[in-house]
Amino acid sequence: MTLSTHSCVVKGKQQVEVISQRVTYQGEGTLVKISRGGICGSDLHYYQHGKVGNFAIKMPMILGHEVIGTVEKSDNSQLKPGQKVAINPSKACGECQYCLTEDTNQCLAMRFFGSAMMNPHVDGGFTQYKIVDTAQCVPFDASLDDRIMVFAEPLAVCLHAVNQAGGVADKRVFISGVGPIGCLLVGVAKASGAREIVCSDISPRALTLADKLGASVTLLANDEMTAYRAQKGAFDVSFEASGHPSALTRCIDVTRARGCIVQVGMGGDIPQFPMMTVIAKELRIVGTFRFTHEFTTAVDWLASGKINPLPLFSGEYSYREVDEALQFAGDKQQASKVQLVF
Ligand SMILES: [Zn+2]
Ligand SMILES: [Zn+2]
Repeated sequence: MTLSTHSCVVKGKQQVEVISQRVTYQGEGTLVKISRGGICGSDLHYYQHGKVGNFAIKMPMILGHEVIGTVEKSDNSQLKPGQKVAINPSKACGECQYCLTEDTNQCLAMRFFGSAMMNPHVDGGFTQYKIVDTAQCVPFDASLDDRIMVFAEPLAVCLHAVNQAGGVADKRVFISGVGPIGCLLVGVAKASGAREIVCSDISPRALTLADKLGASVTLLANDEMTAYRAQKGAFDVSFEASGHPSALTRCIDVTRARGCIVQVGMGGDIPQFPMMTVIAKELRIVGTFRFTHEFTTAVDWLASGKINPLPLFSGEYSYREVDEALQFAGDKQQASKVQLVF
């Protein structure tokens, strides 16, 4: 069966286009009719700069890794046509040393939607029809709000970050940078029983959203945090989600001795890393990258209403207006999460 599909493709810096392609389903995997997709920071980077970090667009690539849709055809009879599914954008090889220990996010041959890390690049999900591995499909009930379910991927990122910290139940938590990921971290911390959630950001608007997701205290990034520095630091766990080098230094200051800092934001290197403080306070600084089994948990949490991400929803566009959607999504004064409708 061959279908024509319109896809949102990035060709380089500031160059996106909707092109017509063909998809041929030959009975293997699941053919999904994509209904909706969320625009993420990496999509924006590819659009604004033609690259994410060192991964530059060298050939046209379909954007998008936060997508949901309905099953058209599947090689698994459990997945009936019309079944709604959230699509896990990670396709790990299943065979490398990391896959064998279930650290699939570290897969040596990971094919992640909408990523220019590999050549040829891995196409994303901003297209009308896509064939995916059946294991990438996580079913959810048709009665649920699609606008909510599209948050499964960024929520999975946050659940993994919290797992990297060893959980946050009954802990004092600091979240530095409350863009969409920072705000979802607030929601996860709240739902996980954190005792206190203090957030900081340069944007008052972002702080208002953090408030809606459950922050206890919101601070502007240049506010003094003197009280939180006392006694070697107030927080058991800090999440650095802004990516600014100075913000990690601040996390090091306000995290208590033997506490944990999770670096979530894709930050640059710190010129003067306060190594002595890290040593003397016995801090654990850990990275966090994408997610593993947390994707299914994220779908569960959204389906059960354990977390409500809708305050972060800033608007939707037809996929035909992907250019406008990306421009709006890039305006941090106005937009948090922008979605495309297919
Ligand atoms: Zn994302
Ligand atoms: Zn692997």
